[in-house]
Amino acid sequence: MLVVEDLEAGYGDIHVLNRISLSVKQGEIVAVLGANAAGKTTMLRAISGVVVKSSGKIQFLGQDIERTPGHERVGLGLVQVPESRRLFPHMTVRENLEMGAFHAGAQRKFSQNLDRVLDLFPILQDRTNQFAGQMSGGEQQMCALARGLMADPKLIMIDEPTLGLAPLVVEQTFQLVKQIRDADIAVLLVEQNAVKSLEIADRAYVLERGDIVMTGTPQELNQQGEELRRAYIGL
Ligand code: ATP
Repeated sequence: MLVVEDLEAGYGDIHVLNRISLSVKQGEIVAVLGANAAGKTTMLRAISGVVVKSSGKIQFLGQDIERTPGHERVGLGLVQVPESRRLFPHMTVRENLEMGAFHAGAQRKFSQNLDRVLDLFPILQDRTNQFAGQMSGGEQQMCALARGLMADPKLIMIDEPTLGLAPLVVEQTFQLVKQIRDADIAVLLVEQNAVKSLEIADRAYVLERGDIVMTGTPQELNQQGEELRRAYIGL
């Protein structure tokens, strides 16, 4: 579905990613793990087309997209849910969801996607007219995921969805990510919570200072030497 080859990316003179390669197949949750500043967010931004300076190959559904503008990548079904939710706090939940469905394809499927989203996140049903900024952190994360789903993704890239959430809500969020995959939407999940991510992921990559230093299924990563696992994924 998504094939990234030799991706380099950075900001102006700041070089962050060193020719990384990765892939996501239909029906998979692929986790990208790594410490602070490893380059995880930069990688997602480069794939979704919001990092100015990048090179390498990005193929989505068999099409080269490295020169495709970010908003058109969304139209193809490649959607990012950014770190820290980035909701529109002074807009209602409903308005935030409408913003997610900005492109023509998503507008055509608006009611169908809204039904799916409210089914996955019933709490949002009661909050439709509430300002997004007035909800709890967990509810805001749900709203951010829901807004991403309103863009009708085939692959959703989710950046640190559990950051700052209470343990019970962290658990719920991981379950929701699984439900998204079960709805036949592939997931590229960036997370610092390696233990929980490896519980739900089909495969994972470990990013360390702009390089992919480990990759494999959760079982394969768990079998790596203890020193490596502790150094890179804190297991
Ligand atoms: P975190 O979990 O802390 O968000 P990360 O793995 O997602 O970490 P990135 O946010 O991709 O890491 O940051 C990688 C490097 O790029 C860091 O050294 C960071 O300071 C730098 N960086 C990130 N955003 C910018 C920017 N807009 N301008 C310049 N440098 C940036």
